[in-house]
Amino acid sequence: MTPGENDLFPIDNALEMILAFDQKGVISYANDAAKKKLEYKDDLCGRHIKDVFPNTFQSTEDGFASEYVFGNEPQNLVAYRRNLTCFPVEAKIVNSTSAVGTYICMANDILEKEFLSREIEQVRQEAQQALKVKSEFVANVTHELRTPVNGILGNVKELLDDVEGMEARTVKSLRLIERCCGDMHKIINNVLDFSKLEAGKFTLEPRRFHFRNMLDYVKAKHISKITEKGLGFFMTVSPQIPEYVIGDELRIGQILDNFLSNALKFTAVGKITLEVLRTARVNDKVELFFMVSDSGIGIDKADKDKLFQSFSQVDASISRKYGGTGLGLNICKQLVELMGGRVEVESEKNKGSTFSFSIWVGISEEDSEALPQQGEVKTTFTTAAMEEEEERFANIRKYGTPENKDNLKKNLSKLILCVEMENWEKAEMFMETIRQLTEEAPQEVKRAVLRLKMAIQKENYDKVTAGYAELNDIL
Ligand code: ADP
Repeated sequence: MTPGENDLFPIDNALEMILAFDQKGVISYANDAAKKKLEYKDDLCGRHIKDVFPNTFQSTEDGFASEYVFGNEPQNLVAYRRNLTCFPVEAKIVNSTSAVGTYICMANDILEKEFLSREIEQVRQEAQQALKVKSEFVANVTHELRTPVNGILGNVKELLDDVEGMEARTVKSLRLIERCCGDMHKIINNVLDFSKLEAGKFTLEPRRFHFRNMLDYVKAKHISKITEKGLGFFMTVSPQIPEYVIGDELRIGQILDNFLSNALKFTAVGKITLEVLRTARVNDKVELFFMVSDSGIGIDKADKDKLFQSFSQVDASISRKYGGTGLGLNICKQLVELMGGRVEVESEKNKGSTFSFSIWVGISEEDSEALPQQGEVKTTFTTAAMEEEEERFANIRKYGTPENKDNLKKNLSKLILCVEMENWEKAEMFMETIRQLTEEAPQEVKRAVLRLKMAIQKENYDKVTAGYAELNDIL
């Protein structure tokens, strides 16, 4: 049945415009929405469909012509009002199944939608532009900041080269300035890298380098602090890794630096290990897999997702206690991704963390010949000496074992030395180690540890020496 003007159809009140027209193109039905939108009254019926869609339909002698493909796929058309103004619609025109020779057109006004999506696109572009301007501004400012900080750092270092005759207080202040400038330098570099990565202006600089030398250099940067803290450090490098590889040496070193600094920062007792494997080879590229593990404070399952977000630290108390900007991991992730790899983390609260990542590096033709021709290789190797060391470190945490006692003594004497030198920050670091070494100790010991800890936090020299003596006696 063809919908007629007098029939009461539920489509009369439909929100979308509905029109019916015959083979001659004459409109035989228009619902309320169509009349209202097209600004007709009842006189819409009897008009030719070309009056509504002049760009889509033309009138011919025997009816109408159109390139419109009738069917269920909605198409974008332009509908004209009675006053010849127009608006975009999303329309579907189908052959009526119940009334042969009748076409039904269903159309929705998409002016608002188009307007909104144009607005959204504009806002998106503006936001992108603002982000770009911000990143460029941050990059410029940090670049400018680097120069004065480097200037101060260079001069302080020069002064510290010859401290003879200087007052102890002056030397102490100079060392503090040196440390602060060093920290500032690191933060500036991080912000600079971050803003370049964000602005998509970061480019890697790959070249051929000696892989093991790079690792030794990274290790040398951290080893003194690691041993000073009384931690063990193990590094294993698979012999299947070529001697020379092609990659961005500086950036690979930076990623490792960051993971090792974090491992050091968040580990008071135990060990840090660095393992490097070759996991795949495709033509002149090899995949390297790095794993940095520690036995430190670990990360809660719930906090793991936050880890690689920029400026994110697991919780505020951690940033207060350990410092940092929360940019390091995000930069590492982005750098690793630029090198064709990904970062993973496995961690358990109070048990330690393992950060691993893979990257692809190149091998030159000459180095390639010397390389064994396997495809996939994944080996890890532990020597007997390492197993022994592992056991020794497992014992350190167990209160009362010779390893634990020995470690406690060492940390106590380092602590008191720092107190004598008024280096309270380092004293706090050793105190944290002592606290962890005595976690399983009897209450009497734990109470003495707590008293000493509080005295250190208050930087009260007399109470610290008394607390130290008390703890030394009990132990
Ligand atoms: P930051 O420069 O502040 O250390 P990162 O991006 O390197 O920033 O690290 C972000 C946060 O991730 C740290 O503040 C810490 O909460 C957590 N984290 C990173 N590495 C470790 C780790 N080895 N052990 C425990 N927590 C870690």
